[in-house]
Amino acid sequence: MNKFLLIVAILICSTRLSAQSQTNKYQYKIDLLNMRDNRVQVSLVPPKTNQREAKFVMPKLIPGYYDAMNFGQYVSAFKAFNKKGEPITVKRLDTNTWIVPDLKNTARITYEVSSGWEDLPQNTPGAKSAESTFKKDKLFILNYNALVGYFEKVRNKGYKVTVKKNREFYPSSALEYTHQNDTIDVVSAKDYRHLVDAPVMYCVPDTTWITVGNAKVLVSFYSQSHQSYSKTLASRLDTILRSQQAYLGGRLPVNEYAFLIYHEKIPRGLMADGLEHSNSTVCLYGSETLDQLPEALIDVASHEFFHILTPLNIHSKEVQDFNFLNPVLSRHLWLYEGMTEYATMHMPIKQRMISLQQFAKKIEAKIKGMEGFDNNLSMTVMSTNAIKRQDQYMNFYQKGALIGLCLDIRLRELSNGKLGTQELMQKLVKKYGPEKAFKDEDLFNVITAFTFPEIRQFFKDYVEEGQTISLKESLMKVGLDYDEAAKTVFEMNNPSSGQLSLRKAWINQ
Ligand SMILES: [Zn+2]
Repeated sequence: MNKFLLIVAILICSTRLSAQSQTNKYQYKIDLLNMRDNRVQVSLVPPKTNQREAKFVMPKLIPGYYDAMNFGQYVSAFKAFNKKGEPITVKRLDTNTWIVPDLKNTARITYEVSSGWEDLPQNTPGAKSAESTFKKDKLFILNYNALVGYFEKVRNKGYKVTVKKNREFYPSSALEYTHQNDTIDVVSAKDYRHLVDAPVMYCVPDTTWITVGNAKVLVSFYSQSHQSYSKTLASRLDTILRSQQAYLGGRLPVNEYAFLIYHEKIPRGLMADGLEHSNSTVCLYGSETLDQLPEALIDVASHEFFHILTPLNIHSKEVQDFNFLNPVLSRHLWLYEGMTEYATMHMPIKQRMISLQQFAKKIEAKIKGMEGFDNNLSMTVMSTNAIKRQDQYMNFYQKGALIGLCLDIRLRELSNGKLGTQELMQKLVKKYGPEKAFKDEDLFNVITAFTFPEIRQFFKDYVEEGQTISLKESLMKVGLDYDEAAKTVFEMNNPSSGQLSLRKAWINQ
């Protein structure tokens, strides 16, 4: 062997070793190029640890969906190897957990992951936006909760994920992917929650960037039957995001955001499914043509984007330290989903995008939407029991939004029009933000301290105790009438100047 060859041999050897050596991070490799029976090959070099027996976990639940999704169900052929490459016997405990008997001496773990969906279901959305899908050589949507796990007692470690992908594919994500060569990308996240919080869509790019105030927004689109549509969607999103920015006081609480939009042709109807993250949203659509897509996207995207307020910038410890296996749920879904839905319906009237009549129709739709649910339940209890009370969960978007409306009017009334839920949410974002959680039991008192003593009673009556919301009384304060029998909302004939000025402060009309 001459000197040159020796150096090359040492280099190859050392890169091999370094590629396999343990660090302080979870080092994952995900191979989208070489699939086996439609399954993606995944390998993991665990972080350095002194632990012997260790439990490997795939999530049972993830933030944003309150139903057990059991992501371990997609994992098969789970194997562990020691430093010599010899197999270590592992034991699967149940759908989502495995026992690795000697983690300290485990150099590598490999497994295969199957797709969460092939085609979109035509009737029920079914939370596919939280799953992954693998369409070889066409498209991969990776929700890391379906591909990547953690050891129960080796938390708070960083993640480095190397993705092997098709040469022409581009990664659309809120995280930054480093292009190592034509087929290798690398991405890092500071811990498991942050990795799961940033899904990626890999495909031939159809992307458009827009700038909304301080935020750079990526609109990435994939449809097998249509191309070059991201620009059309981006121009519609641009309008709505500008209105949201104005509604939020002129500044967005994020600097970067990504919309990952997937469309699939289905014979009839419209299917829409979205899941929010801190800096991105996955939106899935099924429709025959793209005609309805911009409108449908506006509805879903507007709600998901408003989640940048809550839970993303305003959340409790239960959300911050989310336990992916046995989560303890926060009592504040009325805030996370109810207030988000209320902002979604309130923004267009406040920004003069719709008429008072159109807004009244939205209120009526929520009133009718509430009907199928038990409206005497405590919203805080229902929130902590959201997993068991799936039958009531959708009421957070109906009654939850109307509680937001009544709270907004009450705040305007007490402050002579100066303070509403818009300003309240701003104050809470300032106090907390993405990395500072509130204590579940403190929130009502914090909001009361920010506003008026009377607000504590409001929360007690309507959120904690589940009393019937005083919609008629609330709407009357702003010169609107609610016919409880007909379930219609309309303008009063001769509103007083006090009612009119409160309405003006509330909805700018
Ligand atoms: Zn939501």
